Amino acid sequence: MGGTFDPIHHGHLVAASEVQARLDLDEVVFVPTGQPWQKEGRGVTSAEHRYLMTVIATASNPRFTVSRVDIDRPGPTYTVDTLTDLREQRPDAELFFITGADALAQILSWRGVEQMWPLAQFIGVTRPGHVLSDKGLPPDHVRLMEVPAMAISSTDCRQRVVDDEPVWYLVPDGVVQYIGKYQLYKPEAGEVKEA
Ligand code: ATP
Ligand code: MG
Repeated sequence: MGGTFDPIHHGHLVAASEVQARLDLDEVVFVPTGQPWQKEGRGVTSAEHRYLMTVIATASNPRFTVSRVDIDRPGPTYTVDTLTDLREQRPDAELFFITGADALAQILSWRGVEQMWPLAQFIGVTRPGHVLSDKGLPPDHVRLMEVPAMAISSTDCRQRVVDDEPVWYLVPDGVVQYIGKYQLYKPEAGEVKEA
C-alpha cells in the first residue's frame, strides 16, 4: 500500500487490514512515498518523519511492515518503480497494490501505467466521498473491494493540528504523540517541512 502517510491514519490501517483478511495476504507492505509528484504544490513533511509515523502505526500488527524503497530512491516517486523494486526483493511473491477510490480514479494518469499492470493486481477500496469505479481499467488487473467507511484524510488531520483540534482516534495514539513531540503541522515549526 503506497501513500504519502502525512500522517498515516486509521483509514489507511482499516483498508489494509480488511484487504489483508479478505485476500489472506501474508504481509501488507506500507510504502511511504519519497517526493509525491502529485503533491508538489505543498510542502510535504520530511520522508523520515512520515516513515517513522508509519512504523509506529503498524508496529503492533505482525502482518504489517514498512518499506523504504520509495524514500531511498532519489527523485519523484512513481508506483511503477515501487512495484519493480518490491518485485526484485520478493521474486516469488504475488503482489497486490491497495489503493483508495480517489487514487484509483487517477491511475491512468500515472507514469508507466502500462508497465504497471502486469506487476501487481490492483485492489481499489471504497473511500467516503469518492466513487469507486474500474471504468476504463483493465478488468484482469483491477479488483474492487468494499472496506469499512472511515471518513478520515491526512489533509483533515493536518488541518486539525493547525486549528488546535484533536486528532485522537483518527490516527493511532503513538502517532498523536509523535506529531506533538516534533510539533509537526504547526505552521510556526519551520524545521519540520521540506519545500
Ligand atoms: P492527503 O489528504 O494528504 O492526500 P490521504 O488521507 O488521501 O492524504 P494518502 O497518503 O494520500 O492519504 O493515501 C494513501 C492511499 O490510501 C491512497 O490510495 C488513498 O486513496 C488511500 N486512503 C486514504 N485514506 C483512506 C480512507 N479513509 N479510506 C480508504 N482509503 C484511503
Ligand atoms: Mg490522498
